[in-house]
Amino acid sequence: MKKLTNYYYGNLFTPETNDLLEVLQPVLAPSADHYVNTFYSELMSDETTARFLDNELVEKRLTTELKKWLLQTLSPKSDSEIIESVRFQQRIGEVHARVEIPMSLVNSAMTIIKEEMFKTLVSSELETDAKVNAVVLVNKILDAAVSLINDSYLRGKVQNERSSQEYRGASSAHELALEIERVKTSLYDWMTQKMVRYVAGEKVFSTSVFSHEFGLWIKHKFPLICTHSERFDQVSDALERAEQLRLELNRQLPNERNPATLTAFTDTLNEVVWLLTDEANLSLAKESKQDAITQLLERRFLNPILQQETKLAIQSKTIYSVIMADIDHFKKVNDLYGHQMGDQVLGAVGALIKEHIRLTDYAFRYGGEEILILAPELDQEGATKLAERIRHAIETMSIPLGNDRSICVTSSFGVASFRGHPDFLHLINEADEKLYEAKSSGRNCVRN
Ligand code: GH3
Ligand code: MG
Ligand code: MG
Repeated sequence: MKKLTNYYYGNLFTPETNDLLEVLQPVLAPSADHYVNTFYSELMSDETTARFLDNELVEKRLTTELKKWLLQTLSPKSDSEIIESVRFQQRIGEVHARVEIPMSLVNSAMTIIKEEMFKTLVSSELETDAKVNAVVLVNKILDAAVSLINDSYLRGKVQNERSSQEYRGASSAHELALEIERVKTSLYDWMTQKMVRYVAGEKVFSTSVFSHEFGLWIKHKFPLICTHSERFDQVSDALERAEQLRLELNRQLPNERNPATLTAFTDTLNEVVWLLTDEANLSLAKESKQDAITQLLERRFLNPILQQETKLAIQSKTIYSVIMADIDHFKKVNDLYGHQMGDQVLGAVGALIKEHIRLTDYAFRYGGEEILILAPELDQEGATKLAERIRHAIETMSIPLGNDRSICVTSSFGVASFRGHPDFLHLINEADEKLYEAKSSGRNCVRN
């Protein structure tokens, strides 16, 4: 707690400066609206920000918040109020990181606010000394406050970037799996064609396996993406053996064909396929962004994805919805059947939710047994219906416990839809409130 007061910002509030700030309040307060409007129009002069923030709700929110910020920041403060105020500045930085208000914009708009304020101070009825002290103090306090905001903005931003990069990493494992799938198809197609013509007595094995698409892929790309060199050696060895068998098949005249060579050849190529499949699974497991118990996305990916969806919704004037789900009386499940059974129930609920959502939806493990579903381009009504379908499916699912026993659970849901606010945290909070309503009105229901 004490550490917060060590900030430069905190040190600016002394008995003397507090006295001066007391005098300044009635001087600055009447023009607060003017400062704030100047700030907002400066923000709007930036094209990209304007596209994102040009919205009645945003303007009202932003200007109200900013006015509150100005008066709060320039008010006299006791020690405990300083701690409060440092947190307040840091929270603003966090909001800016979520909403993606760039630091440079805040800085330049702040310059404009200061200029307007200094004009007020200079033309006020204060004595000359007081005027000078006031300008210096206001300048220092605003600078210190902005640097606190920027500091926490950067921390939030770095966190978001890191998570979204890791998420992109996950899709590269996915792409690798798809690519391996294509290589397998190409290899199987090749084998089928050759077999048909070989059986018909044609001479079909004149070209090297390394000259075919799958052979080239294994030679050039596979070493770059393979998780360990041992696996690459296994695949190369198998392919080399297949090549030797191919040469032998090519040498055999139609009347001296040996079926054992052909079987060995196809077996070896199947071994290549098996090794590649295993590699795809390994790489998916290694880069998996899924929570181990529920197989849903980990919560740390929620921010970058929600940020992206919010941006898209504002830009394309579409909507998205958030569904917050929580299993009812889950503590009882743990108490009655043990934690391990509890985990199994969580896994079953996670799997069921994945079955019910659309390909475009995301399901995150939000907390212990809380699951958040993000449904792009789905309005409140659609999301409520989806939640209702999931609620019903959970209610009617019987989860086997072993020994011919089974268990049933229910869950409650809160639904909220995007209405233009650029800070997605509002939507999560709203879904949470609705979930609370569902809980307090008897559970096993959906509230929106
Ligand atoms: P409510 O209907 O009000 O939601 O009642 P509840 O008992 O479900 O209460 P709450 O949601 O607050 O409690 C969640 C419990 O879930 C607390 C914790 O013991 C349990 N839990 C959280 N994470 C896990 C987990 O990973 N595995 C298991 N088995 N239990 C968990
Ligand atoms: Mg619960
Ligand atoms: Mg809970």
